[in-house]
Amino acid sequence: MRWTERQRAMLGEMGIRLFEAEPRLRDRGTIANGEQDRSPLPTSESAKEAALGAPEAAAVRSAERSPFAARLQSMAPSAPASAPERLDAGEIARLDWPALREAVAGCRACRLCEGRTHTVFGVGHEQAHWMVVGEAPGEQEDLRGEPFVGKAGQLLDNMLAAIGLSRAAGPPERQVFIANTLKCRPPGNRNPQPDELAQCEPFLMRQVALLRPKIILAMGRFAVQSLLRSSEPVGRLRGRVHRWQGVPLIVTYHPAYLLRSPEDKARAWDDLCLALEVAAQAGAAPT
Ligand code: URA
Repeated sequence: MRWTERQRAMLGEMGIRLFEAEPRLRDRGTIANGEQDRSPLPTSESAKEAALGAPEAAAVRSAERSPFAARLQSMAPSAPASAPERLDAGEIARLDWPALREAVAGCRACRLCEGRTHTVFGVGHEQAHWMVVGEAPGEQEDLRGEPFVGKAGQLLDNMLAAIGLSRAAGPPERQVFIANTLKCRPPGNRNPQPDELAQCEPFLMRQVALLRPKIILAMGRFAVQSLLRSSEPVGRLRGRVHRWQGVPLIVTYHPAYLLRSPEDKARAWDDLCLALEVAAQAGAAPT
């Protein structure tokens, strides 16, 4: 692959320096069910040899909504606090985008609602081909109500930009949707607790179901736990293609981890290249 100046700049931002090298086929990914993925990656060996440096959708007619969603719709939009505080998974699984947003905003199903400033629903195109799933909001995200706006978010944006993706408004093949396993900030940025993950999981599941992405990028161990039901370390799950209800899913390191462990950035870059290859096969290559 020939890198554009912009991609080079973005890779530089990721802390990856490129050496000029003849394009070669990348190591082949292994499909989780044991099949070998035999197609070459659209990237050069230079990535492997990298040296490490440093809208909503239109409102759905109420007749199409579940009774619960209709109940939400009848509520004053400016008063999410009056929305029902606890829904069961079956109710959540029938919500449309606006109702899901309201349900998240009003959720009081676990203790995390006590300390939050904002819920963090997620951001991006509601028909995005690419879905990125992270862990939980941190301080900045809690203050702004948007995922990945701190330092880890800057790295994520650079990683996405390096493969032609962005959270900024654009066509669905380019504008990603970014969500977290938890919609509220755990105090002191501690790890999500199992009961919190369990309470929040139906929201993430509904987001995936509404989005119907062509590829999912699961970043970090909590995204992996929620989506793959696996407690294996990220390092053991990355490098191959998994599936979530038929949707190809690529596991990679969480950007916050990469900030602490920059020696793994080259592996993260490999993961992005694998994701690009899989996306191309699924007709979801960024244009
Ligand atoms: N880390 C995450 O996983 N999500 C965010 O929104 C911010 C940091």
